Amino acid sequence: MKEKYDYIICGAGLSGLILASRIFDDRFFDDKNILLIDKNLKSSVNKTWCFWETGNSVWKDYIIKSWDTVIFKSKGFKKEKSLKNYSYKMIKSKFFLDSIINKIKQANNFDFFQDEIVDFFESENNVLVKTKSNQFLANNVFNSCVDVDEIKSKTSYPFLLQHFLGWTIETSESFFNEKKATIMDFSIDQKDETRFFYVLPLSDKKALIEFTVFSKDLLKKDEYELELKKYIKSLKIDKYKIVEDEFGVIPMTCYPFERKNTSKILNIGTAGGWTKPSSGYTFKFIEKNTIKLVAHIKKNTQFSNFKIKTRHWIYDLIFLDVLYKKNYLGSNLFTKMFSKNPMEKIFMFLDNETSIIDELKITASFPKRIFTNSLLNNIGKIIRGY
Ligand SMILES: Cc1cc2nc3c(=O)[nH]c(=O)nc-3n(C[C@H](O)[C@H](O)[C@H](O)COP(=O)(O)OP(=O)(O)OC[C@H]3O[C@@H](n4cnc5c(N)ncnc54)[C@H](O)[C@@H]3O)c2cc1C
Repeated sequence: MKEKYDYIICGAGLSGLILASRIFDDRFFDDKNILLIDKNLKSSVNKTWCFWETGNSVWKDYIIKSWDTVIFKSKGFKKEKSLKNYSYKMIKSKFFLDSIINKIKQANNFDFFQDEIVDFFESENNVLVKTKSNQFLANNVFNSCVDVDEIKSKTSYPFLLQHFLGWTIETSESFFNEKKATIMDFSIDQKDETRFFYVLPLSDKKALIEFTVFSKDLLKKDEYELELKKYIKSLKIDKYKIVEDEFGVIPMTCYPFERKNTSKILNIGTAGGWTKPSSGYTFKFIEKNTIKLVAHIKKNTQFSNFKIKTRHWIYDLIFLDVLYKKNYLGSNLFTKMFSKNPMEKIFMFLDNETSIIDELKITASFPKRIFTNSLLNNIGKIIRGY
């Protein structure tokens, strides 16, 4: 271990390791020393990351399944679309992250340290990263450790949790159509919240079925299980084996995370506000933002100048505000969006990649009075935050 590093990456999860991988691949950083710190370098959790994209993936070696047909459902409505340009893809986190760690370990300018980070102290020339058992100096720090409760308690921005329990189940009979992914099925009792299921078939006898809620508070553990059992029964599956489960919580907020950045500490990943506030999708934003970040570091080390916010932040804020105040409207709003717009435009919109004309069309799908009121109520935040 060294006393001082050029960069310390705090948190070796998705954003920390994708950034480290890009630094590893770029000869500009060959003479820079980098330390990765995580409280758990060998995570036992095997998260499922899904995303849509066009063309071949740079992550093609890690994609365990992809679908070219996607389904959206709600009560009385179903849209099934065979995608022309996009596919919906799945990666499992353990293999992905372990592979990146193994790749980086080949380089002698990277060190790893396993411990809990407790604080940062920034001075004029460097940043001191304190862990429970040690401390390290760096010129610059990338931080992906996030304290969701702290942000929730401090923000005046609408804040919802996306919480979910997924079961990967196996059936003895052939049951699933493995070519079709159900990305949202709202046709369940909403219980005055925003609730839906994913059904992501891995084969005709195996699928990840995930119960997801966007709401202010978590449910009790047995409520997720009960909903899963009910849904699986409604699919007319009587006998199945649960081979894997996954519980997750993702913060949904337009909190201006970038204000926590300083000239030497940059928050990345969910901690940097890279999670799409209205959907929780983060994978593709990490992929795109780390490319921008590496280019930024090579030009200018003032982290406070690194900007990723687009006008889509305003749509997220308004949508989230409506969902926060009228949580029961979620199914209705998503149904309006999916019924009135082409699937591929919706993907582009959720990726922050649409034109203003597209955005006007998509936002026109939503109830005008409710969304105009929300826009007016948030005008101050929009002026300050954007
Ligand atoms: C179960 C689950 C499924 C998800 N599925 C999808 C999906 O399908 N598609 C999508 O786009 N997004 C998904 N997300 C959202 C997002 O992509 C992931 O949360 C992603 O892991 C975020 O990357 P990150 O680097 O910000 O955080 P993480 O990957 O969580 O990395 C943070 C790292 O920091 C470490 N850490 C935290 N605090 C400390 C500390 N004090 N000291 C030391 N180390 C610390 C943690 O151990 C962790 O390794 C999912 C999230 C979850 C929880």
